[in-house]
Amino acid sequence: MQAQQTILVTGGAGFIGSNYIRYKLKTDPECIIVNLDLLTYAGNLQNLGEYQEHPRHIFIKGDIADRRLVKQIFEEYSIGGVINFAAESHVDNSIADPEVFIRTNVNGTFNLLDVAYKKWMSAPFQYRVANNQRFHQISTDEVYGSLGETGLFSENMAYAPNSPYSASKAAADMIVRSYHHTYGMNTVITNCSNNYGPGQHDEKLIPTIIRKALTGDKIPIYGDGKNIRDWLFVEDHVKGIELAFYKGKAGEVYNIGGGNERTNNEIVENLCRLLDKLQSNGRQTYLEQVQFVEDRAGHDKRYAIDASKIEKDLGWNAEEDFASGLLKTVQWYIEKYR
Ligand code: NAD
Repeated sequence: MQAQQTILVTGGAGFIGSNYIRYKLKTDPECIIVNLDLLTYAGNLQNLGEYQEHPRHIFIKGDIADRRLVKQIFEEYSIGGVINFAAESHVDNSIADPEVFIRTNVNGTFNLLDVAYKKWMSAPFQYRVANNQRFHQISTDEVYGSLGETGLFSENMAYAPNSPYSASKAAADMIVRSYHHTYGMNTVITNCSNNYGPGQHDEKLIPTIIRKALTGDKIPIYGDGKNIRDWLFVEDHVKGIELAFYKGKAGEVYNIGGGNERTNNEIVENLCRLLDKLQSNGRQTYLEQVQFVEDRAGHDKRYAIDASKIEKDLGWNAEEDFASGLLKTVQWYIEKYR
């Protein structure tokens, strides 16, 4: 499939979406990006840096669940593909207040998909134009549930989401899947592990640890800190998305992960040791600030991705080494919180 001219990127003011837009505008001189973002508490156009004003970046503030608006965007711009990053993305918030997760992640995805279907296709399996515009759903490894001490999430594993967040993402994936099977839509889904890197919202684990350390507050760790996540540098995720969007097979799912399994305790220790070196607080170590707190309700034990399909089929590989990625991240947050 050749590069589509105008791509509707949703959630492009968030962490991963903004990284994608910056990468795309930098590397593809042809594309035009229409960025639809509601600018919730998690969205910030500053994440786009100088690309906010880029002549091929068109920003529209609005809701992916707003049918009238999404239809209007499809009518006004010749949308050649959709990459749906927009979501409520924080598990803790979904436990406190799940409703908006269903509205944005489920209804919003359905709305985008259905408008795209009606605009792009005249009937099931009949695209109006030959290039089969693509709908790419950005999803998470959390849809697979929790692993025991061994095993990896692979694409053929059954979904078993445990939090309202992961359930909403799983539901959205299922709707996307159904539009491929029922209507022949050219969809692709990527399920990625935990991202890290500059520009992530303050509420997430790595920024929280760095911020609390630097402000001298207690650094909270849920439960015993032994929960394991598989960490991926955000720019590697973006490259995987780009490959899947252009080269992925219609109807396929690709898992993307960094092969960096770490317990939360290890993440805290790595970050504190880096901060000790880069921004010493005069005491022995930031680790003294660690405090174990009550565990998150329903906290999944372990996530780990088998990324061999995207590696083998699309030639993707995680390039950033975990130590260097973490160093870049810490340096960025030291500047931010200074
Ligand atoms: P984020 O919270 O940083 O950004 C989400 C963006 O979506 C924000 O800019 C927000 O304003 C926007 N948004 C929210 N509701 C909207 C709505 N109704 N209409 C339009 N825009 C809306 O999230 P992120 O970390 O960048 O995650 C992006 C996507 O990647 C999400 O779909 C998430 O589920 C998925 N994902 C994230 C991770 C991770 O580690 N961050 C891992 C795997 C998958």
